[in-house]
Amino acid sequence: MSSLADPRSYDLDDVRRRVLHERGGEVDESIPELAATDPDLVALALVTVDGDVNASDRADVRVSIQSAVKPFLFALALQDTGGDALDRVGIEPTGEAFDAIKLESGTGRPPNPMVNAGALLTASLVDGADAAGRSARILAGLSAFAGRELDVDESVAQNEHLLGDRNHALAHLMRSEGTLVESADDAVAVYSRACAVRVDARDLAQMGATLAAGGCNPVTGARVVDSAVARDVVAVMATCGVYDGSGRWMRQVGVPAKSSVSGAIVLSAPGALGAAIISPPLDSRGTSVRGHIASDILSEELGLHAFRMVPRRAR
Ligand code: GLU
Repeated sequence: MSSLADPRSYDLDDVRRRVLHERGGEVDESIPELAATDPDLVALALVTVDGDVNASDRADVRVSIQSAVKPFLFALALQDTGGDALDRVGIEPTGEAFDAIKLESGTGRPPNPMVNAGALLTASLVDGADAAGRSARILAGLSAFAGRELDVDESVAQNEHLLGDRNHALAHLMRSEGTLVESADDAVAVYSRACAVRVDARDLAQMGATLAAGGCNPVTGARVVDSAVARDVVAVMATCGVYDGSGRWMRQVGVPAKSSVSGAIVLSAPGALGAAIISPPLDSRGTSVRGHIASDILSEELGLHAFRMVPRRAR
């Protein structure tokens, strides 16, 4: 068996070079800011649960977090509701696209927190007296996960709100079912601002590492969410994080992850590390093409597959 690389000295620039030539996929065009992203951007970073940081070239290029925010919205909702968020949102995979206009039959709840319906709802459950208060809580919470003060790309937030017709439809549907309590427009506004938070690969890797370390940021030492919350979030990332590609992803890559339309992927390998890859061209399921290949490489070379049949002490 080939020996595994040490994450601290692992050559992420080499991984970057190995995936850079890949030309597949299309950059998302749902809003002008995403359509304008550089298709040649490839950035990687990882942060171990001991707080070691390793990053490739371009790991400081910022993009909007988009759907990679969803695990963290779920985490903040669980934390702020003392777990009651689990009564308001399902945890079953849908086998459908991220923005499917579909709720759980019988309950009217969103199927899981990793699709848009679920994230609209979890964003509405965090602490805050009104939409502005919830947005502030989300930005502070995401910043604690990332270990630095994050900010919002205001033009992305505006365009997401203006052009997110399916998100408005989902919010109205959930209002009519009684599952969404706040106004549909406020729910879309809060979710749109959350999607528009700017992160680089290093930020996202640290966010994934905070979940992998049981809710405590391994770089800053701050407790962000309870360990039971982190465990719940990573479990749902494993089953639902890559939408209708989640089963294939877990079989092949074997690391709980969340994809996003900006081409960011955040990975969380419990007890080991968090990692992030940002590369905008997407496959038909909305997953970064190079990000998927790089995730395969990281999983293989760092021994991250959750179902790797080797006792941990022998790794
Ligand atoms: N802002 C996007 C939307 O809600 C996020 C989708 C994604 O990243 O998969 O349409």
